[in-house]
Amino acid sequence: MTGLPEVVRAAPVPVLGGGLVDDAPLDHGASTPALRAVLDAVDAATRTYASVHRGQGWLSRVTSAHYEAARAEVARFVGARADDAVVLTRNTTDAVNVLARALPEGTPVVVFDSEHHAALLPWPAATTRRLTVPRSHEEALGRLDATLASLEPGLFTPLVVVAGASNVTGELWPLERVVATARRHGARVLVDAAQLAAHRPVDLTALDADWVVLSGHKLHAPFGAGALVGRADWLDAAPPYLPGGGASAEVTADGVRWATGAARHEGGTPNVLGAVALAAACATIDRHRAAVEDHEAALTRRLLDGLRATPGVRVLSVFGDDADRGPVAAFTVDGLDSHLVATALAAEHGVAVRAGKFCAHRLVDTLLAGGGTDDATAVRASAGIATTPEHVERLLAAVATLAADGP
Ligand code: PLP
Repeated sequence: MTGLPEVVRAAPVPVLGGGLVDDAPLDHGASTPALRAVLDAVDAATRTYASVHRGQGWLSRVTSAHYEAARAEVARFVGARADDAVVLTRNTTDAVNVLARALPEGTPVVVFDSEHHAALLPWPAATTRRLTVPRSHEEALGRLDATLASLEPGLFTPLVVVAGASNVTGELWPLERVVATARRHGARVLVDAAQLAAHRPVDLTALDADWVVLSGHKLHAPFGAGALVGRADWLDAAPPYLPGGGASAEVTADGVRWATGAARHEGGTPNVLGAVALAAACATIDRHRAAVEDHEAALTRRLLDGLRATPGVRVLSVFGDDADRGPVAAFTVDGLDSHLVATALAAEHGVAVRAGKFCAHRLVDTLLAGGGTDDATAVRASAGIATTPEHVERLLAAVATLAADGP
């Protein structure tokens, strides 16, 4: 035990109606528990706030300063360039949609079917090439290369959309090589870092990618905050995402002049507490980055070794068993419905996981193809800062019991 779980909130957790919950936290891939530093930052910001960007009073100026400081911290966290836009959004889905609405008309979008629906679905169908799930890095890069080469040269700047880490298997995509491939064809790259940012550093500048999106609730900050960070040109040229106050600079009898910069796409009063939470999480995770990586590497090894050694259990993988991955394992248990497995893990063993297709239907269907069922699902165990080695052992013992008992 590294002591890292103490960075997150104390367990067990009191629940409505009395009682305590002490589930092994193995569902970080869905949402992560808040860090103590996040709770403190939100508590302080909640006690002293007023309107943001809309008042001359002292508290209003403090609140605006908090909001802009949060924006700066998010920019730092993802290694933004000085002239990158930092649009604070509700979550990753919202952030992808901000960019999707700002795409110059006719922009070809290239995306693999393995993506989370948030990164797969917001693009215009007419100009989007959806590539089937690849089974190796070489295949992914080769197909990306060929697809980009097949586009009419010079007409439009294509956009490649790629996850930093799969939300189903936790496997990391070879981002440097994806960006290099895209650049050879003059394409831009959006990195969906929703599943990456809590586990590995994200550096837009070093990566030379164009945009990154992420969600606070997958980064140990509570719900309702996310970000789109990257090139400002398409965003500045696009209609505002949420037309209204804040997004408008001047309204006259003749029309409206929209704001420039992030404000253009942040119509209405923004989620200051969400931004404060997100920024506190970014700062804290970065401060503990080395310890986080050590902690999670040990959990990942044990999780994978233990599941793979359990008779009747199959661990899913896109790129093969040796692929580098975050602390995530999606698996099936022979003869058992995945939802029943997840329910039994929670009810009988105090282990919190998720079952289903994880908003990545094409990927799960592909990985389970040939399994003899049309609507196959998997169980996903996703560890993180709040997970201890004991939690992983509890999961492994429970899965072994369920697998041995059978249907
Ligand atoms: N992208 C990936 C890889 C995800 O795992 C998720 C959520 O599971 C999303 C995008 C969407 O995130 P949100 O629900 O916060 O919008």
